This record gives sequence, C-alpha cells and structure tokens, in this order.
Amino acid sequence: MRHDFLSRRDFLATAGAASLVAGTRRGGFARSTAGPVAIASSNGLNTVARAVEEINSGADALDAVIAGVNLVEEDPNDTTVGYGGLPNAEGTVELDSAVMHGPTGRAGAVASLQGIMYPSKVARLVLERTDHVLLVGMGAQRFAQMHGFAIENLLTDRARAIWVRWRENLSNRDDYLPPHGPDERDLGEAMRRNEDHWGTIHCSAIDLNGNISSVTTTSGLAFKIPGRVGDSPIIGAGLYCDNEVGAAGSTGRGEANLENCCSFLIVERMRMGDSPEAACLYACERIADHTRLARLQNSAGEPAFNVSFYAVNKAGEVGGARIRGTGRMAVADAQGARHIEMACLYE
Ligand code: ASP
Repeated sequence: MRHDFLSRRDFLATAGAASLVAGTRRGGFARSTAGPVAIASSNGLNTVARAVEEINSGADALDAVIAGVNLVEEDPNDTTVGYGGLPNAEGTVELDSAVMHGPTGRAGAVASLQGIMYPSKVARLVLERTDHVLLVGMGAQRFAQMHGFAIENLLTDRARAIWVRWRENLSNRDDYLPPHGPDERDLGEAMRRNEDHWGTIHCSAIDLNGNISSVTTTSGLAFKIPGRVGDSPIIGAGLYCDNEVGAAGSTGRGEANLENCCSFLIVERMRMGDSPEAACLYACERIADHTRLARLQNSAGEPAFNVSFYAVNKAGEVGGARIRGTGRMAVADAQGARHIEMACLYE
C-alpha cells in the first residue's frame, strides 16, 4: 500500500503517531541523556563499541566515529566498504565518504576515490586541511598521497571473484562465459540487481562534551558505472549533523536519497520535534511519495528498493527506519553495544 504523503505529513510529526499508522512498524528504543552514545548501520556493532570506547577515553565525537568505521574500512570481509569492497563495472574499487563535525559545523568528503583504504580519513583531511568540502577521483587520490597515504590494491580475491561472476553472467549477448559444461547452451543471463549490491556504514556519535559528529563510508553500488557517486559523500544526503539538534545518516539506494536530501530532512524534522525514529520514517515516506517511475515501483506502486536511515538527537535518543521490512541498527552507550530494531514504512 502506498501512503499519501501530503495527508500523512502532519500526522507523522510525532513518534507516537507514527507508530499508529497502518503499514508502519515501530522499531527499538534506546535513550541516554548525553554522550557517550553512538549509532551505526547494522554492520557497525564493532564500530559503535569502538566509538564509545574512544569517547570514554576523552575523544572528540569525530575522532571516535572515524576510528569506529576504520575497523570496517580495513575489513576484507565486508564487501560494501573500503578494502574488499565490490568494484565498479570495470573491476576498480571506487570509494565514497563524508564526515561532519558538529561543533564547528564543517564537512569534508571524497568521491570516486581509488586505491586508498581509509576514505573517511581523507574526508577528514578535506575538512581540516582544505578550504573545500568535496574532492573527487584523481584529485582526491593525489590529495591523499600528498598527506602520506599509500596507494594500495583494494580489490581482494573474494571481491574480484564476485565481480567476474557478475561480468560473466551479465548477458548472453557478449563473449564472456561463466564456467559451464559441454551440454549447456544458454550461458549468461541478465542478473537482477539484488540486496548484495548495496551496503555502506554510517556512524554518528555524541561525545562527553555533548558534541555530535558523523561519518559515512562505502564502496557504493556494486558494479556501478565508473564515476558514479552515490549519496554517501554528499552532505545532506548520506549524512547530516547539527550540533544543536542531532545527526542522521543513510544506507541503501543512494539515488533515491540524493533526490530527496533525506539526512538533512531528518535533522530538520528532529529540530521541529520529531523523535529520531519518526523523522526517519518521514524521510522514507518522502521517498515513497517521490518514487513515480514504474521501473522503480513494485506492483503495489511502492518503492521496489530499500533505503535505511539512522538518527540520534541531542538528548541521546536514537532510532531508525527503512522503507521496507525488518532491519536492525547498531547502538552503543554506557550500557554497551547492541542491535535494536528499526521501524519500517512497509512490512
Ligand atoms: N548508499 C550507497 C550508495 O548509493 C550504497 C548503500 O548504502 O548500499 O552508494
């Protein structure tokens, strides 16, 4: 069922109301009156634990969230971020990342960055050591080299094998052949995009001074057109942070988020009084309302893709929502690190 955004807009203004709307599902709840608190996408359980550890040792929230996501960026087993991330259509890993520092209101980002394992650290250097916000491609790589980063091969054997399988099965009208037996005729068929093609890590945190910062880092959409940039490195889309209000970030179909600037929207909804979860649901609703092309809809006219949002407000309340289905997000605070359920717009 598709909901009428305009008529539901005001109704969704409170978390309590959001839970009563047919078709939406409330998620989990965690509350803390101040830092330390960290939130992340579901792949960030170690990330939030690390971020809170850093905060408890006196770190600024930006240092803490970057230290947290570095664990995933360097992990060869996470095929959605940094080293080991799935490559673009030509087999080259291209990374996107952005950071935002609440106390100074500054941002830094890199997009289509090749050969650097820690794009979040480079994004931070853009914030601190340039008068710019976003560097892309070779310019971003040269900037990273200037600051001493080594160029490395980020394509692991595992990611390369997945890419080769994709390439060989993409079409039966080209000359690439998947492994096959002598009796097989029809080799290769258009592979449908699936959930494995998506993935990112977002992390936001509040430190012991009550300051908020955020990071999002990703290898982006698997097998993307070279040069494609998703939402992750775009301030206001893949993340947004306002030290007086809270922070938000996203994972999932970046194009839908780019067209709706949802992290900014979520922070503004929290400024107006929405709980983090209600604000994230509101963003899901906005995307659903703006998804008007048949190729992006299922038979019920709903978005045929997923986007997830994660948010924390200044008081340390956290929540998340996704367009479809159950999902979890990672949270850590004084009670330790755990997953909590997220709300969803459609069951
Ligand atoms: N949002 C990322 C992008 O579009 C991918 C993801 O989170 O799955 O690049």
